[in-house]
Amino acid sequence: MKILRVSPNIYKIEAWFFMKMSAWIVTVDDGIYLVDTGMPFMRKRILSEAEKLGSLKGILLTHGHSDHVGGVNKIVEAENVPVFAHQNDIKHMEGKEPFPGRKKTEKLVQPGIVQPLEKLDDGIFKKIANLIPIHTPGHSPGHVVYYHEKDRILIGGDLFTSKKGKLQKPIAMFTSNMNEAVKSGRIVKELKPKSVSICHGNDIDVPHKQIDQYLTKFT
Ligand SMILES: [Zn+2]
Ligand SMILES: [Zn+2]
Repeated sequence: MKILRVSPNIYKIEAWFFMKMSAWIVTVDDGIYLVDTGMPFMRKRILSEAEKLGSLKGILLTHGHSDHVGGVNKIVEAENVPVFAHQNDIKHMEGKEPFPGRKKTEKLVQPGIVQPLEKLDDGIFKKIANLIPIHTPGHSPGHVVYYHEKDRILIGGDLFTSKKGKLQKPIAMFTSNMNEAVKSGRIVKELKPKSVSICHGNDIDVPHKQIDQYLTKFT
């Protein structure tokens, strides 16, 4: 496993399990937040890296798939921190309903420990850890990306994969609605981040410069 510094406030922890698997640490004034917790085997390394940077304040999830929520139960058992995800994925990760397109339910988190991301009156999500959550459905119904305005980094979760410096679609086998997922990629056009950080691939700089090509190719 290795740790990369994405920007002044964001670190990415990468592991390999058939493909690249990542989670992020985001520093705030009084501690740190995790964005995703990777596969279960990544938990100890993530926590030891996190400890060096500050005390854990909470966990934000990009979505509810098993390779992103692996450490959640044990971390919450030990640290009792809040965990947030988009409302639409919570019933799936709690094992109450299978993800769309899948046959089996999977109880990945203890029911009740993940709370829905809070919305403000105008329907926009409340900022947490200097990150703005943005709903980007398709890969899963409640997939969100987190935008760090100050660092201009978009933590993209599974919105994209990447290959040789190019944006690629999310992994088909695990994607609920590919058409919707590809369209959700437009968000980089609006935000124009310095870089999009990707779970299953290398990060892509100035992704807005290639998003039109991506949309044309995959829609
Ligand atoms: Zn996924
Ligand atoms: Zn994934």
